Amino acid sequence: MIYFDHNATTPIAPEVLEAMQPWLSHHYGNPSSVHRAGRLARQAIDAAREQVAALVGGQPADVIFTSGGTEADNLALNAVPVDRAHYLVGSTEHAAVLEAAQARARAGATLQLLPVDNNGLIDEGALDATLAGIDDAANALVSVMWANNETGVIQDVEAVGRVARKHGARMHTDAVQAAGKLSVDFAAMPLDLLSVSAHKLYGPKGVGALLCKRDVELSPLLFGGGHENKRRAGTENLAGIVGFGKAAELAQRDLHARQQHALALRESLELGLANMPNVQIFGQAAARVANTCQFGVRGFHSEALLMELDRRGIAVTSGSACHAGTGEPTHVLLAMGYDSDTAHSAIRVSFGVQNTAAEVETFLQALNEIAGARAPAFAAGLFGG
Ligand code: PLP
Repeated sequence: MIYFDHNATTPIAPEVLEAMQPWLSHHYGNPSSVHRAGRLARQAIDAAREQVAALVGGQPADVIFTSGGTEADNLALNAVPVDRAHYLVGSTEHAAVLEAAQARARAGATLQLLPVDNNGLIDEGALDATLAGIDDAANALVSVMWANNETGVIQDVEAVGRVARKHGARMHTDAVQAAGKLSVDFAAMPLDLLSVSAHKLYGPKGVGALLCKRDVELSPLLFGGGHENKRRAGTENLAGIVGFGKAAELAQRDLHARQQHALALRESLELGLANMPNVQIFGQAAARVANTCQFGVRGFHSEALLMELDRRGIAVTSGSACHAGTGEPTHVLLAMGYDSDTAHSAIRVSFGVQNTAAEVETFLQALNEIAGARAPAFAAGLFGG
């Protein structure tokens, strides 16, 4: 299989699996127990806390381990009093933020979506004006993702955070697609909260973290114990956290090499796409994480292309994995001003460390065969747009 869907998930790195194994078998102590086995488990979690903090430039004490990026995003919204909260959320955010904010809005919070331009970028001037018009800016929380999971577009979260800070609002960034792909410095940036997830960077699924600065009052989502400094109850996912720590360490070590590798692949992909008729690349004029390219072939429905590519052993996706199969066009492209047909044509390619230039060639060839030679049949009848 040619796997070009690393923004959906990545395979576990062999070193990560190796680091996890003892914590799935003979080291089974509960990290909250005071005996030797418990203390050993606690030390392993604290070591992982340091590794994760180091990857994103935070303090170990900032790290709250969660069940993944989704929980981290949901938890971040509890950094302001939920009943009085005023959420300002990017319109291209992941569903883990958007839907969580919508749920809070149904319970009495105020929610405003921040519009984006044709490249998916937030207008900081407009945010400034919006925040200036809010009476209770201290209860406001701005949530803007660092790198978009569909287009790869990188937001200037530093500039957005400066605006939030100027008005005394809290600032959260979903860095699930940025960590391990960009250099991230949580401590130095005007950010209060930052979400990460292990399975996007060659770690295990079902583990992530919310980084939360010390002065933020965060009410928990889960109750039942004093874990994670009373901010996230529940016995820790010991092996998962150890794996996350190892994956973070590798991501930090290999950041530059991974960026260069992905960039070379994307350049050859986009060179090939440029030679194909009716192809447009979304967010191309903005800075993007190196591994991601989302494009559309005019007149083609992405689901049809995906199925045909899958038949040929090539795994890509349309928008995000979470929305795949819903038949809905991606909200990200709609927010960027594209019409429904164009949004329906979106294909996302996201590269990983094991991908090769030969795989990109095979992909381009397959795409040419499907969308080029057989275009009339695909576009008009069978798979009409
Ligand atoms: N945020 C972004 C930007 C993502 O891409 C994802 C995963 O698709 C998530 C949050 C959710 O993370 P998880 O799968 O760990 O719950």
